[in-house]
Amino acid sequence: MYDALVVGAGPAGSNVSYQLSRRGFSVKMVDLKERIGIPNHCSGLVDKRVVDIVGEDLVIDRPLSAVISTPLGSFSLNSQRMRVIDRVALDQKLAAMAQSEGAELSLMTHLTEFHQKEKGIVVTLKSRRGFERVDARYIIGADGPTSAVRRNLGIRAPKLLASLQFDLSRKSESVKIDLDRRKTPDFFSWEIPSGNEVEIGASGLNSEELVRKMAGNDRVVRKRGGLIPIGPTDLGKGNGFLIGDSAGLSKATTGGGLYAAINSGNALTAAMESGHNVLMDYQKNWKNSFGTEVKRDYTIRKLMDRFEKYYGLWVPLVSSSLSGINRVGDVDYPSKTLLYMLYSLPLRFPMALMEFVSRAVPS
Ligand SMILES: Cc1cc2nc3c(=O)[nH]c(=O)nc-3n(C[C@H](O)[C@H](O)[C@H](O)COP(=O)(O)OP(=O)(O)OC[C@H]3O[C@@H](n4cnc5c(N)ncnc54)[C@H](O)[C@@H]3O)c2cc1C
Repeated sequence: MYDALVVGAGPAGSNVSYQLSRRGFSVKMVDLKERIGIPNHCSGLVDKRVVDIVGEDLVIDRPLSAVISTPLGSFSLNSQRMRVIDRVALDQKLAAMAQSEGAELSLMTHLTEFHQKEKGIVVTLKSRRGFERVDARYIIGADGPTSAVRRNLGIRAPKLLASLQFDLSRKSESVKIDLDRRKTPDFFSWEIPSGNEVEIGASGLNSEELVRKMAGNDRVVRKRGGLIPIGPTDLGKGNGFLIGDSAGLSKATTGGGLYAAINSGNALTAAMESGHNVLMDYQKNWKNSFGTEVKRDYTIRKLMDRFEKYYGLWVPLVSSSLSGINRVGDVDYPSKTLLYMLYSLPLRFPMALMEFVSRAVPS
């Protein structure tokens, strides 16, 4: 019997397997992919704190600037801490680290079902060799936004936003975010420098049309897409736990989920190590580490969705406060940026209202 069966060898699954194995837990990881990290859906934009964890060798770009656009103008963010990492290399590095600590890895293997028994979990896996039964004390769902572990545990799914990204063969030095919700009603569009290429993408409604337009006549090197989960779910049930995107832990305002994928696995590892009530300890550890930020972010997103119809008012309001935000630019803590904007609103509200009225009343 394994201590843990980890479903999914993305960043969340490989990191938790590494953390558990090096503490003496016996771990089996499975992934349905043929090669770790491929295909890759992710842009790889992270804060420096992620690089401090995963290693400088993965950095492929350091954006020189970052610009947010709204219909009323563009504003600079501080890009000093922003890094673009090689996402395929990240997945492969973490999986290799887990294996070097003793975790077993089976590729082209997926979870079909599992049952919780009094003393652990009985799992059915399927690979080219057929069906296989595995016994484990715990099952860890690190199987991304459409998680089969989550479904088996009967935990509600987060909302999933389809996202599309094209990689273009041109260089760029700047991260560009376009917040105009008239173009992307559910989310935003982005441009991220990535070595000799640039990644452009958008999420939600209209994304395909918009990304094609953004690409213009530039040569498209590859097209890729993925799902961004919006809204954290429960972290587990009984002896089954969810980490990373399977628990909807991406940030609901930016879609960034790498820091949460790693952090949630660390919170679960500490809970398993303490060995009391693992689920309760995991929930506590997660809340105290990064969970509060993820929840706060989700609340901000719900507010933005709710007040969508007052677009004409909030755009000048937000735009006028954005002019001061070049002091912040932490992609792991977008709420810092958004709270800074809110903090400055009372001062700027009269200005924004005048702007709104002048736009609403035809001259
Ligand atoms: C277009 C796009 C751009 C993004 N850009 C960024 C960014 O710039 N910065 C950032 O921080 N985040 C970004 N994200 C989010 C980030 O990619 C995710 O948060 C991150 O991948 C979550 O890691 P994970 O290990 O939880 O899940 P995943 O990376 O999705 O890994 C899940 C793994 O589970 C495997 N799997 C799935 N089902 C099964 C099964 N039944 N059996 C076995 N294996 C299974 C999959 O093959 C996969 O390898 C982006 C997301 C998208 C869609």
